[in-house]
Amino acid sequence: MRIAVLPGDGIGPEVIGEAVRVMRHLRSDIDCVEALVGASAIRRALPPLPEETDALCRGSDAILFGSVGDPEFDDLPFAQRPEAALFALRHNYDLYANIRPVRVFPGLEEASSLRRELVAGLDLVVVRELTGGIYFSEPKSQGSDADGTRWAVDTMYYRAPEIERIARVAFELAARRRKRVTSVDKHNILATSRLWREVVNEVARAYPDVELIHLLVDNAAMQIVRRPRDFDVIVTENMFGDILSDEAAILSGSIGNLPSASLAYGLSDRTFGMYEPVGGTAPDIAGKCLANPTAAILSVALLLRYSFNDEATARRIEAAVDRVFAAGTRTRDLAGSRAFVGSREFTDEVLRCLEVPA
Ligand code: NAD
Repeated sequence: MRIAVLPGDGIGPEVIGEAVRVMRHLRSDIDCVEALVGASAIRRALPPLPEETDALCRGSDAILFGSVGDPEFDDLPFAQRPEAALFALRHNYDLYANIRPVRVFPGLEEASSLRRELVAGLDLVVVRELTGGIYFSEPKSQGSDADGTRWAVDTMYYRAPEIERIARVAFELAARRRKRVTSVDKHNILATSRLWREVVNEVARAYPDVELIHLLVDNAAMQIVRRPRDFDVIVTENMFGDILSDEAAILSGSIGNLPSASLAYGLSDRTFGMYEPVGGTAPDIAGKCLANPTAAILSVALLLRYSFNDEATARRIEAAVDRVFAAGTRTRDLAGSRAFVGSREFTDEVLRCLEVPA
């Protein structure tokens, strides 16, 4: 059993280093093999996703990914920028199902951007279609007419099987949770949304115990900040999911708290996937040991749950993180004016709490 560990840039190596400590502590039987990606590869005159890194991923059971990006390379053409590695991995491994759990940890309610009474106990999951829609469809180009008028075009295209497989992931997840799926689209305007709603309704027939609600994306954006606890599983297409999952993310108090899974085969018993913190490389705090490692540590929990079918260890990690927050330990992003600890000390606390009986 092997995990390809791609720490990447900025705070990536700091938080992934902590996550790997937790992983090794709990599952020393799983090999963690590191490889270069993003700006750290470009600096060694390699492409953002080097051949060797891709080969390691291909021969592994899962990928643990940090983050990529560096302002130094922002002016390069997209294919040569660090961020291109992420798109290549999603594409190469058909990582179509992006799962982002959003929780407000007990004790952290005050850190949320919403009032405590709106977010206490919040626990929702955004399921975002990750390999189709407007980010990938062709034609996609920019040009100008003979008279010099500039234009640009993007295309939004979905095929029913792409919608069906992501809808199944959402219903399967909801069936294991509070049994409510909210499907988000723009049915009143977009043809792709009309197909989306049709297919989601068809998939729903196989899950009679799961309630299905449809929301237009503009209304969904409002309801997520108005009554976030009413949501259980939100499923939506790529671009809407990109925006709504960041909106939902901030409810938890810090982007540093949020893990994600991008899965290739839905929720089968053991599936290939890439697991990563939702946030980026945080150049403002990189190299200072100030990063919150929670998202990376909880990404290990998701990795064990979905790629290694190890629910028990996943829950142990999640419970340990809950205890650390409940005891008042905070990294700087969550501390406000209170005392805070560094990435390593925070992880030391997680490791300690892993040994405390539930
Ligand atoms: P960012 O997520 O890196 O940072 C936004 C803010 O959140 C910053 O103030 C940062 O300090 C804070 N933050 C993020 N993660 C944190 C953590 N674990 N602990 C504490 N604070 C944390 O977003 P950005 O500033 O828009 O982007 C910076 C770079 O990251 C860019 O080059 C961008 O392209 C890249 N990026 C990469 C990914 C990815 O690899 N998946 C995702 C988003 C952005």
